[in-house]
Amino acid sequence: FVEIRHAQKCFGDLEVLKDISLQVDQRQIVAIIGPSGSGKSTLLRAINDLDPLTSGEVWLDGVQVNKQLPHRQYELHINAMRQQIGMVFQHFNLFPHLTVRQNVTLSPKLLKGISEDEANHLAEQQLEHVGLSDRIDYYPSQLSGGQKQRVAIARALAMKPKLMLFDEATSALDPELVEEVNQVMKMLAEEHMTMIIVTHEMGFAESVCDRVLFMDGGVVVEEGPPEVIFKAPTQERTRNFLSKHL
Ligand code: ATP
Ligand code: MG
Repeated sequence: FVEIRHAQKCFGDLEVLKDISLQVDQRQIVAIIGPSGSGKSTLLRAINDLDPLTSGEVWLDGVQVNKQLPHRQYELHINAMRQQIGMVFQHFNLFPHLTVRQNVTLSPKLLKGISEDEANHLAEQQLEHVGLSDRIDYYPSQLSGGQKQRVAIARALAMKPKLMLFDEATSALDPELVEEVNQVMKMLAEEHMTMIIVTHEMGFAESVCDRVLFMDGGVVVEEGPPEVIFKAPTQERTRNFLSKHL
């Protein structure tokens, strides 16, 4: 469903992704763990071509995301692809001058051309889903970090994505707010949303994900089901990392 083929990424002469190949099935939930600087965010951002690969291919549902196309055609193509890929970052990236409702309805109206009424209905639905119906006419500055992050998730979901990417969605939050965001991600997992989740929370990865990838130095060192990666990793580098993070 998602396929990364021989992904290589260089920043100048620094090679941060080294020939990574990876497949994620539809409805699968994959965690990416690994030390700081190992290339996790770069890999995630390559999936929707925010950080274009130096070489290699990314495919989603049978279509190549990072297709070589003339400029104008590429813009149309990548916008269409990005509509299918929801992304939630560490920092919430909500528009501060827009209400929660406006944050959620903006893209569906702009990119999908749906009516105001339909967009409102969609926003109400998605905000209810993340437990924020009562905050729909608030501004981001009036929300807690956990609430902002739940709005960011609702905003991504309003585009009905085929794939959700999370890059340390909870790592900027106060500890007591982490759980409410994790609960929303758990709910999406139960609904079988296809997800790739970069996380430092090993307990969360273990309880929610079908597969765990351990990255270090721009390569996938080891991958497998959580019970294997966390309980019986075969690679020294994985054991070493986990001994510091479990
Ligand atoms: P963290 O856990 O700290 O978020 P990460 O695994 O997400 O780390 P990346 O952000 O993917 O790591 O970075 C991988 C490497 O690429 C790092 O060495 C980083 O310094 C480098 N890098 C990332 N973005 C750029 C850039 N725009 N220009 C130059 N180097 C970059
Ligand atoms: Mg990162």
